[in-house]
Amino acid sequence: STITEQAHPWLENLVSYDPGKPIEETARELWLEPEEIIKVASNENPLGPSPKAVEAMKEAAEGVHIYPDGGGYKLRTAIAEKFGLSREQIILGNGSNEIIELIGHGFLNPGDNVIAAEHAFVVYKLMATLFGAETIEVPDPNYTHDLTAMAAAITPRTRKVFIANPNNPTGTMVGQDEIDRFMDQVPEHVMVIFDEAYYEFLHEPPDTLKYVKEGRNVVIMRTFSKIQGLAGLRIGYGITTP
Ligand SMILES: *Cc1c(COP(=O)(O)O)cnc(C)c1O
Repeated sequence: STITEQAHPWLENLVSYDPGKPIEETARELWLEPEEIIKVASNENPLGPSPKAVEAMKEAAEGVHIYPDGGGYKLRTAIAEKFGLSREQIILGNGSNEIIELIGHGFLNPGDNVIAAEHAFVVYKLMATLFGAETIEVPDPNYTHDLTAMAAAITPRTRKVFIANPNNPTGTMVGQDEIDRFMDQVPEHVMVIFDEAYYEFLHEPPDTLKYVKEGRNVVIMRTFSKIQGLAGLRIGYGITTP
């Protein structure tokens, strides 16, 4: 058989993630200087990283001949302490995108399905496709996740529900009451993933950590890419049960 025939059949439909257009490309197209352009397509932090973070990275650069601690002991311990959890409840990823992928590696099989809002962050569907799972895209009137409809869409083959809160690219969010009503309806066989990449920008963010503390089948995803302005470092983390 040919190499193409040996590939998983569902990979045929897999498209790559289309990232925001690089500044240099726009500069070339419009005959501008890169410094004149502010990129908003990928929600990067326009203020850049903290000078303290840059200093720490310069220091760390001296030690790159040594393999890193793949278990991320220090960072996981620090994150766990911040939330009053144990280190075993924190998983690190090469960006929170990799957490989405790791969840697929661990818990998705061909024929399973995942549920996401129609205009949700596109990576959920790409990752489901990667593992041969189907994505049920639930209509989101006013571009806001309809959690009642998403709960109603759950089938026996549903393994995951993704809730991007606030969502990218629509910028809308769901509140505490809707989340609580949704969690009351979700069966234990379904993992709920709260993607909270913009959590730190909210004045009164909904509390989803309580569901982790209750031992529910929940993963909260956060990232250093947005509020900390460290998108290029690729550090995201998941908060969940051990
Ligand atoms: C930016 C973003 C992420 C973060 O991706 P990283 O891989 O951590 O850089 C995750 N989810 C949403 C909805 C985002 O907009």
